[in-house]
Amino acid sequence: MLTEARDRAVDVLCDPSLSHVVDLVAWPAGSGGVMVANAFGSALLSASGASVLRGRNPVASQDPLAFTPLAAELADPSPANLDNAYPWAYERLSSLFLASAAPDLVVVHTGKHYWPAQGGHLGEHGSLNVVQSRAPLLLSGAGVVARGLLPAAARVVDVAPTLAWLAGTPLASLGDMDGAALVDLAVAGAAQHVVGLLWDGCNSNSLYAMAASGELPNVARLLGSGCALQGGAIAEFPSVTLVNHTSALTGVGPGRHGIVNNAYFDRRSAVQVLTNNAATWHRWSEWLAPGVQTVFERVSGRCASVNEPVDNGADYSTFGLVRASGSSDGAKSMNSLLPDPLQDPLATQEHVVSNADYAWSSSVDAIGVEQVLGLWPAGSPGEWPRLMWWNTLLTDTGHHEGGPHSPIARDAMRDADRRLGVFVDHLDAIGAFDSTVFLLTSDHGSEGADPTCAGDWDEPLRDAGIEFRDEAYGFIYLGHS
Ligand SMILES: [Zn+2]
Repeated sequence: MLTEARDRAVDVLCDPSLSHVVDLVAWPAGSGGVMVANAFGSALLSASGASVLRGRNPVASQDPLAFTPLAAELADPSPANLDNAYPWAYERLSSLFLASAAPDLVVVHTGKHYWPAQGGHLGEHGSLNVVQSRAPLLLSGAGVVARGLLPAAARVVDVAPTLAWLAGTPLASLGDMDGAALVDLAVAGAAQHVVGLLWDGCNSNSLYAMAASGELPNVARLLGSGCALQGGAIAEFPSVTLVNHTSALTGVGPGRHGIVNNAYFDRRSAVQVLTNNAATWHRWSEWLAPGVQTVFERVSGRCASVNEPVDNGADYSTFGLVRASGSSDGAKSMNSLLPDPLQDPLATQEHVVSNADYAWSSSVDAIGVEQVLGLWPAGSPGEWPRLMWWNTLLTDTGHHEGGPHSPIARDAMRDADRRLGVFVDHLDAIGAFDSTVFLLTSDHGSEGADPTCAGDWDEPLRDAGIEFRDEAYGFIYLGHS
């Protein structure tokens, strides 16, 4: 029944009339295999490679360095499937389909698909392709040799093991993660303190280029005494926020941590699970699969998680405070406590005035600065965290609003850099900078949509008489409505 419905859905979705919006579809093929298909061909992916069943393998190129540096990305915006790259396609897709809440069929948007009616923006992420999946990855500070930009790539699941290892957790106890510590980039044991910085939705090429041109002086300072991967860190699929915050901080993919999208369908309770929302972020641990540990649970010493839903085991946690407040709608009802972004000298006022999302994210990030400064009191080194994780929201807001490389995305990065500067200067002033190692990354990339590229796959699926739910626009649960 499911197989028959899926075959019919795949036929509809692989019709050439939808190829401008459907990059490819994927579904589990049994025995851990994954099928991928589009208008140009289909293939069975497995741990041992790909066998092409028709035409051309839709994920034939998996080069994680494709479309780097920035000039290469700008020269070919929204590359077509034939020219695109899908790093670790099998590993990422097969991880997703291990999860009990995984859909029966995944539809991957083309990079240029513009879908404002369903919540899409000028800048988007979520897809399997390399530009939407690529987060920056920069290491700097105690134990890191200044080597600049390196022609290499990592994965978002490598972040947790790297942070834990830098904070003194033995590598031997991290072997159960999907990711691995980036042991070639640093020396463990050299730092007293580890700081993880996540700039949500920040385009990797952009970050490196703006650091090089002097537009992000504090990132440039870190890169000047550290290194960064030109291919960045490739997000788990789908390349969306809560899936990858969780992957970054647990070191495992969605198949094991269980948070498969920002919204998904729980077949057992037959309800939609809405994870990535200001009203629900504080409930993150309710959706985590049993037995999955965060990096905070693997590091001995004081851990802090700032503005980050993923917080199990952290001694200090913003969302722990939200839960303690007893508010029923989480961070949403805390809005009255946020500082006025119009009074914030670190915020680009032009956007604060004209864009409500920019204003709100600026307020949240301003609270972030207050928290990180409070976590490192002058003269009390015993209180400084062994591991501090600091999530920045505004970068994602700017990238969605105008697309990567737009003025508003770049201003969001400049604001984030100024906030980072306040913190780094503070570490300098209290004498903590030289004993700290920094890791700067993101949860996914960002790609510009093409406003002329409209279209919808739900309508032709319905016209074909297929019963389905489409969660988060692309997760197809067959036989449910
Ligand atoms: Zn995000």
